[in-house]
Amino acid sequence: MKIGVDRLTDTPTVLRFSVSPSWVAERFGRGPAHGLEGLAGDVAFEVRVHRMGPDVYLEGEATGTLDLACSRCLTRYRGPIRERFRLVLEPAGDRVPADPEGAAALAHEGLYLADELESGWFRGSEIQLDRFVEEVLALAVPVQPLCREECRGLCPRCGVDRNLESCACSEARPESPFAVLASLRSPGRK
Ligand SMILES: [Zn+2]
Ligand SMILES: [Zn+2]
Repeated sequence: MKIGVDRLTDTPTVLRFSVSPSWVAERFGRGPAHGLEGLAGDVAFEVRVHRMGPDVYLEGEATGTLDLACSRCLTRYRGPIRERFRLVLEPAGDRVPADPEGAAALAHEGLYLADELESGWFRGSEIQLDRFVEEVLALAVPVQPLCREECRGLCPRCGVDRNLESCACSEARPESPFAVLASLRSPGRK
């Protein structure tokens, strides 16, 4: 996953590559800390790259599938990855990033990413994209996965899955007006 800077023109070049779950495990380590251990197959990247004056402009999308656990009802489900990204890279020139990690990345990979991941610097004729790919993947993991938008979750008192059955516990604090509506509508509950 490299970009040859010298070959770029004003007309976008389309790069397609995919990263495998084993590549991700190697880069992120194994274990459930980052949410990417649930990758179901490869993640496909499509990146359009072109020059904009001295700058290098990238935009594209990562698509794939993740096995996730719903943050409300704990059910496992498959959710799509669809992460769009855009990155403008300026030539670094003589500048050196203040943080040592950033300085090392610019020296060795030809790429320094700013914090918000939409801009950065490049140096040399080859930009190594692995680190950026990692960051895009990390962003693709939902912070609060939901099996579906209207998931009613588990009862905080008795633990019943409220998508499947109702329970006799009174709702002290309904989560949303929709939860109240749903409980009013459910048959056999007066
Ligand atoms: Zn759920
Ligand atoms: Zn209950």
